[in-house]
Amino acid sequence: MSIDVDKARRDTPACEKIIHFNNAGASLIPRPVLDSVIRHLRLEAEIGGYEAAEKMESKCEHTYDSIAQLIGAGRDEIAVLESATRAWDMAFYSLPLKKGDRILTSMAEYVSNYVAFLQLAPKTGVMIEVIPNDEAGQISIDALKHAIDERVKLIAITHVPTNGGLINPAADVGTIARSSGIPYLLDACQSAGQIPLQVDEIGCDMLSATGRKYLRAPRGTGFLYVRRNLYETLEPPFVDLHSAKWISRDRYEIRKDARRFENFESNIAAKIGLGVAIDYALSWGIEAIRDRISTLADHLREKLNSIRGVKVADLGKEKCGIVTFLAETKDPFEIRSEMRKQNINVWVSQIGSARLDMEARSLKALVRASVHYYNTDEEIVRFCNVLSSIV
Ligand SMILES: *Cc1c(COP(=O)(O)O)cnc(C)c1O
Repeated sequence: MSIDVDKARRDTPACEKIIHFNNAGASLIPRPVLDSVIRHLRLEAEIGGYEAAEKMESKCEHTYDSIAQLIGAGRDEIAVLESATRAWDMAFYSLPLKKGDRILTSMAEYVSNYVAFLQLAPKTGVMIEVIPNDEAGQISIDALKHAIDERVKLIAITHVPTNGGLINPAADVGTIARSSGIPYLLDACQSAGQIPLQVDEIGCDMLSATGRKYLRAPRGTGFLYVRRNLYETLEPPFVDLHSAKWISRDRYEIRKDARRFENFESNIAAKIGLGVAIDYALSWGIEAIRDRISTLADHLREKLNSIRGVKVADLGKEKCGIVTFLAETKDPFEIRSEMRKQNINVWVSQIGSARLDMEARSLKALVRASVHYYNTDEEIVRFCNVLSSIV
């Protein structure tokens, strides 16, 4: 089934006013999501926050079913958090890592994950090792295989990086993790909502994602998946009245399900909106979304490469909707601000967001134009015409 682009654009009224190629930053939320969030905020104002949460409990609970369906997990294996970073952190800081343990990661690793490694390493004596890329620019499966030994206690990689079109071979990594019994944490922040993600096919034990990017959910939403037999063994780094029960004066008991990684307070309206956004994505079909995004991104790369002085910088065998490029005559920030004046949104990926990769390629910054299924070929043509005139 293919996407009804006209309908998608009617559901996204801003499409008529702006060309939004910053979907890897935050996508435009569709009307059903906007309506669900506003409706709940209104209800809170009318009857009270706790009372509104009680009244809408089944709607809020439904968000767990939506996430579970999106990634092929059980609802007990899901925690809803305020961002992908907090989701990832809750998994990472729960792991019983100790001196001499090795953590294997990828060149594409996202800044927030890597700084967590850097924070933990001197405190615990764990070692961080970066698996090199293969000649296509994705994580080398051979090198990963060779790095495995009994001291490896975590494989943590980024599926799709913040700064390019690369799709890392997450399922091949999963095969290795599974066969050696090593916990596998996948940062699926940029892939959730744009690429099918089934945790059993990927073979990951933990997965983190955000709402606002390709899932088109409100800001301030994210989720964590932890496989049942793993979460049962993990104690979150901090607890509250939601993740634990105070059962006697000097004892508490951790919650039974993955919501042990959540905190009590949350933005209920946004949480409902996250579920609505996922249902909306599922109604298009993630395969159809992936196909449409990939066709648009290929078109954009081809057009960009035909502009003199412009060079596409994306790595990988298989590529997604994130398109990055450089122009000889203009720096990325100038391009972004010139584009902005023409109501075109792009972003600049800077060295600090994915330092291992950027340094290896001697890059300081890249223009990032990330497309979604509601974008069109006409927008791509207009974008490239504007870019031609700028450079
Ligand atoms: C954006 C991003 C994150 C962080 O997501 P937040 O919701 O901002 O915490 C993590 N990993 C990758 C690859 C990202 O692009």
